[in-house]
Amino acid sequence: MVNTTSQCDDIIDDYGLKGAFCKLSGHCGVAGVTAEKESASYVFLALRALQHRGQESAGIATSVDNQIECFRGMGLVHEVFNTQRLATFKGTSCIGHIRYSTTGASELKNAQPVVASSSIGDLAIAHNGDIVNAGKFRDELREKGWAFFTTTDSEVMIRLLANELVNTGGDIFHALQNLMRVIIGSYSIVLLVGGKVLAVRDPLGIKPLCIGKLNDCKGYVVTSESVAFDAINATFIRDVAPGEIVELGMNRYKSYRNFSGTVAPNTHSACAHCMFEWVYFARPDSIIDGVSVYEVRNKIGKKLAEEHRVDADVIIPIPDSGRAHAVGYSEGTGIPFREGLIKNRYVARTFIMPEPSMRETEVKLKLNPIKSVIEGKRVVLMDDSIVRGTTMRRIVQMVRNAGAREVHVRIGCPPIISPCYLGIDMKTRSQFIAKPSDSKRQDYTRVAKMIGADSLAHISIEGLVECIGIPKGNLCLGCLTEKYPVEIPGERTR
Ligand code: AMP
Repeated sequence: MVNTTSQCDDIIDDYGLKGAFCKLSGHCGVAGVTAEKESASYVFLALRALQHRGQESAGIATSVDNQIECFRGMGLVHEVFNTQRLATFKGTSCIGHIRYSTTGASELKNAQPVVASSSIGDLAIAHNGDIVNAGKFRDELREKGWAFFTTTDSEVMIRLLANELVNTGGDIFHALQNLMRVIIGSYSIVLLVGGKVLAVRDPLGIKPLCIGKLNDCKGYVVTSESVAFDAINATFIRDVAPGEIVELGMNRYKSYRNFSGTVAPNTHSACAHCMFEWVYFARPDSIIDGVSVYEVRNKIGKKLAEEHRVDADVIIPIPDSGRAHAVGYSEGTGIPFREGLIKNRYVARTFIMPEPSMRETEVKLKLNPIKSVIEGKRVVLMDDSIVRGTTMRRIVQMVRNAGAREVHVRIGCPPIISPCYLGIDMKTRSQFIAKPSDSKRQDYTRVAKMIGADSLAHISIEGLVECIGIPKGNLCLGCLTEKYPVEIPGERTR
């Protein structure tokens, strides 16, 4: 029997699915642990270390005697779970999820893990990514008479998996392989099934996922980012390979890969790691697919110093996202690095505020200039990326008001000109301040004017690829190039 508790009523449907279905999309964090003791506490700590990946909701599920217990709530991990709550999770296997807010979807029903009853017992799933062809499956299945309760890709995925479990006589590995053959998109998944934790990474390895070994007791862990291992005293073993399924045990983990046909037929490269993890999303102290996030950001700053030098008196990062890039730019140019903008730590990321008007006011609350660092100076402002330009426009104005003589903006990501369909909350062309034509000509004067800067420059795509150090063909650069690693209706593939 599934036991899902949360801060709202559960949904129970005719197909035995229970729990609040969620939109399995966007940037999220996942963790799964099999441990001799206190597996829920490990997941709790791992999720706290991954909190930057999502602040909207948190959930943990455990398995006891093949029954799943799950609790989800709105808010930060430590607001949803306390010691008493964690003590109720008795199982040795646990999975957890933190969710990133996307506009209009800040509701508990969108929280994960999602729990369902299947032919082999309870299943729980936590997912980071976006399934591109979920809509197509939903339409096909609806025509066959399946009823759907939501329009979410999570419902589609869990129903397809439950169906494959029937087709494969309850063999979860074959069911997963069959699922991986047909779903297209990005997915780093942790699953709780038959009392075990399984981890699955999509065949292109778009979203990060890595395996570690616990040091304080027997057991293994998978998480979105290696930084979580430091928090729970686990040793990093390796990244989960694209297309791999991993089963965690107490004394070892098992790996299943190279299934024929698990690379969906219409994908176009061996792998396609999302460049935005290194540029912005991941914590700088994480190592993703063998590459240190901090070092990439530092190299980006140095590369920008080569590509777009400017005479200035001071380089100021937009905290915290521009800090490592700014150190690199300072090292590359010799321009002194100073903290000229101070961040209020207790204000959440402005990007994820659901309403644009809230975002604008929050920028002021979030950042405050130090006049003595800025007044009378030629300032270089450094940030990781510009999406809509709202944040940068406000900051440039703020720095001018603090007395800057000139304001030059340097950005550690090439112009974002195309939507992300694979898990980052940048969904519509109309929201981007940059246009494909700016990007093609590498002429940023139009946007510089819009944000009120004396000059604006972005790192080049080639420069970015060099800094990440992974071949261009193995990165997803869809939001920069308008060419995607999987087929997306109406878009070009690379
Ligand atoms: P804006 O240009 O006003 O849309 O804001 C861009 C800023 O938000 C960047 O400086 C990043 O630090 C941050 N950012 C960029 N993309 C995202 C995203 N998908 N989710 C959250 N924050 C983001």
